[in-house]
This record gives sequence, structure tokens and C-alpha cells, in this order.
Amino acid sequence: MKLKSGCIFWPQVYPDPEPQFPRLDRDIQCDVAILGGGISGALAAYHLVRAGIHAVMIERHGIGHGSTAASTGLLQYEIDTPLVELARKIGTDRAVQAYRASLESLLAFEPLVDELGDSCGLRARPSLYLASEERDIESLRAECEARRSMGIDVEFLGGEKLRDEFGFQRPAALRSRRAFEVDPFKLTLQLVRCSVKRGLEVFVDTRVTGYSGRDHGLTLDIAGGPKVTARKVVFATGYEAMRMLPPGLCRLASTYALVSEPVASFSGWPQRCLIWESARPYLYMRTTEDGRAIVGGEDVDTADVHQRDALLETKAQVLGERFSKLMPEIPIEAACAWAGTFAQTKDGLPYIGALPQFPHSYFALGYGGNGITFSLLAAEIIRDLFLGKVTERTHLFDFAR
Ligand SMILES: Cc1cc2nc3c(=O)[nH]c(=O)nc-3n(C[C@H](O)[C@H](O)[C@H](O)COP(=O)(O)OP(=O)(O)OC[C@H]3O[C@@H](n4cnc5c(N)ncnc54)[C@H](O)[C@@H]3O)c2cc1C
Repeated sequence: MKLKSGCIFWPQVYPDPEPQFPRLDRDIQCDVAILGGGISGALAAYHLVRAGIHAVMIERHGIGHGSTAASTGLLQYEIDTPLVELARKIGTDRAVQAYRASLESLLAFEPLVDELGDSCGLRARPSLYLASEERDIESLRAECEARRSMGIDVEFLGGEKLRDEFGFQRPAALRSRRAFEVDPFKLTLQLVRCSVKRGLEVFVDTRVTGYSGRDHGLTLDIAGGPKVTARKVVFATGYEAMRMLPPGLCRLASTYALVSEPVASFSGWPQRCLIWESARPYLYMRTTEDGRAIVGGEDVDTADVHQRDALLETKAQVLGERFSKLMPEIPIEAACAWAGTFAQTKDGLPYIGALPQFPHSYFALGYGGNGITFSLLAAEIIRDLFLGKVTERTHLFDFAR
């Protein structure tokens, strides 16, 4: 699957030469084989080796060059499905648990980058969720109440307050204090570098052609002949894992993003907050460490790569226009625009854990708008499963839910 196309931003601003890893050309054994070297595989690897588990990462192309390089890097606890709607779908208790787990994962990014010794562009920002229409005001008010009652620090801003504080002409907004922007590509490479120091073995340009189960694990066949024998396998293969899943669990769509040249000033963009909105599909925005604006959205309900790519130029133009409408004081010039495929689940929650038809395997599939926050959640859950620890989170996101 061609996961993305166009001008992909993050690898272009990566400051160092990318770390080089070998292709696998011999048989190896390990506790856990991680398939996929994106942010999900990198976080899983980090948490596994930190727990003293011998892990091997196998990537078909290069580290971080899948969907991760296409991500716009907004980190939020807010799931694409609002808490009130999620509660209707899966019950209040489970919805509250899911939001709590998402918030806990979000907050784990700060200590994580401290350990990595590189901020990877992680910056705390407030997040502003704009009402797109007058009719959304009441649902935002209800959402605010539901989140506050579970202890989340969120504030309802009426139209006037929003105009006074932010200058935005929208009917209302929710302001959440906890959110981050990050460079997802740098974070992935840094996680892998640090995990290698703790014993992770990484192989790139290495394609798995088949696997077979044994009593106590799995054997992976690698193109060219080598074999990997592992007690467990983690499928962190992103949207490409969809073909292994039961039909109907997820839906693929296309999305677009644009990054500007560095702007002269962010005046008119209070606190450089993350911005998104109640319309579906939603428009969203953030800034970067080197002073650019990123705008994303304009999703199209197709998985057809040709259709997706044919729309890139038009979609980039629309994203630029929509940005200028909201931020008239910040003129932007496009530097890069790209298109990507992404997956959505019915409840907006990720799929994490085992599937009976794949023994000795765990899936780390952070599908949904805040995929990276879900990847961290997946990494923690999978480490715990390997160590035999089952918590209330395990069942919240498993395939049997
Ligand atoms: C345009 C766009 C914007 C986005 N913005 C955000 C955002 O702001 N915030 C957010 O949280 N999320 C965002 N996402 C989602 C986010 O990018 C994904 O959730 C995340 O990158 C998924 O990471 P991953 O590691 O699971 O997948 P990937 O990064 O795709 O990594 C999977 C890797 O597995 C490898 N692989 C596949 N099959 C095999 C195999 N058989 N053997 C070996 N290797 C294999 C692939 O080569 C790939 O490198 C966005 C997505 C897109 C497309």
C-alpha cells in the first residue's frame, strides 16, 4: 500500500544523518519480534527493552518512513469521538476509562522525551476545539460538563470570550489545557536509537514472507532465507495490517496536509494552540518548532490511492484558503503538501492486543485521529501482556470489545 505521497515534510528537516541499520541476513532468536519501524513499533520497542525484554525490530523499508513521516504530530487526549457520543456507543464507564487512558498516555510523552535526552519538538500547547456551527454549541457545553465531571481540565468558551481571547469568529469552543505538538519522525528515530543502546536489534529492508506457529512461539520467514524465532510477535505494521483483520472493523480514508514556510509572527494565534473543530471531517492546525504553520484535513472517503493523489493540489489550495480565513493576520506560503491514507474505527478507539487466529501475536494498531497517543497506549499494554499483566485497559481496546 502506498501510504502517502507528495512532499513529506519531517524527513526534510531531520537535522542529522538518519541512523543506518543492516538488512537481516542470518537466523536470529528473540523474546519479541516487532514488525514495523514506525512510531508504534518504536514505542513498543522502547517499552519492551526498558523492561529487559530482548526485542528485534524488522522493517520492510526504512525507520519512520511509513505513515509516521506523514503525520502532522498533534498529540491530544481527545478522541475523535467526543466523550458524550462515545458513552452512547460503549457505555459511560468504558468511555470514561478510554478518555482517562488516552489522557494518561498523552501525559507520558513529557517524561518519555526527558529520558530520550531530546525534546523531538515536543511542546506543550493548549488545544482549542471550535464549534463549526451554531447548532454545535449545546453539544460542546454537554461535552465540557461530561469531561469536567471525570476530572479533565477543560473550559467552555462562548462566542464572545473566544473572540476576545483568540480573535476567532466561531460560535463557541472547548479549551483543553493538556496537548502537545511533536516531530513524529524525529521522535521515532530517537526512540529507536535509545532502544538500540538497551539491546534492541534493528533490521531494515527486511521483508517477512510468512510465519508459522510453534508451541512456544512463532517463526518468521524472511525474504532471502533467514528465519526469526520469537516467543511473541508484535504487528506494528500500521494501516497495512488491515488486510489481516476481520472485515468491517476499520475503514480507510484519505487525508491532506500542508506546511508553510516559516512565518514572520504568530501574533493572532494565541499560545500557538492546537486547533480543530466539531465539523466532520475536521480542519486542524498547529505550529512547528521552526516557526511554520501546519494545516490538515479535507478528508475524502476513499482508499483509492490514485483518487487521493489526483486531489492533492486542489486540497492543498483549499487548506491554505481555510487557514487564511481563520488566521487573516498570518500570511502563509506553502512549503510542502502531502496526502496520506488513514484508518478509522467505528468507536474511534484503537485495536490493541491479540487475535485468536494469530497465536503468539499482539497487534499495536493506533487507528484514529490521535494515532500516536494510541501507539503509546499500545506499547504499554503490549509490554504488560508480555509480562503477564492484565489491567482494565487491556479489555478496553482489545478485538473482543
Ligand atoms: C496526513 C496524516 C496526518 C496525521 N496526523 C496525525 C496527528 O496529528 N496526530 C496523530 O496522533 N496521528 C496522526 N496521524 C496518524 C499517524 O500518522 C499514525 O497513527 C501513525 O503514524 C501510525 O504509526 P505506525 O507505526 O502504526 O504505522 P507506520 O508509520 O505506517 O509504520 C508501520 C511500518 O510497518 C512497516 N511494515 C508494514 N508491513 C511490514 C512487514 N510485513 N514487514 C516489515 N515491516 C512492515 C511499514 O514499512 C511501516 O514503516 C496522521 C496520519 C496521516 C496520514
